[in-house]
Amino acid sequence: MQDGPLVPDPVCGRCNKKIDMAVRTEAVYQDEIWFHTACHREGADQLFRATRLSVVLKDVKRGVDIITSPLF
Ligand SMILES: [Zn+2]
Repeated sequence: MQDGPLVPDPVCGRCNKKIDMAVRTEAVYQDEIWFHTACHREGADQLFRATRLSVVLKDVKRGVDIITSPLF
């Protein structure tokens, strides 16, 4: 887990609730944004799914490109 700078009033980048720095072990710092560990995990899951989906969509798009290509 990456350790981030001490922000005076960190707010969770996902649920927008204040993160209590007394429980900083429950927080994750990523891309200059603080997240609750649980929120970060949820976001990571969603991102993973979104990435998978975009890969699938890209494949579909590629298939369409091939089909509509003048060479075929
Ligand atoms: Zn949160």
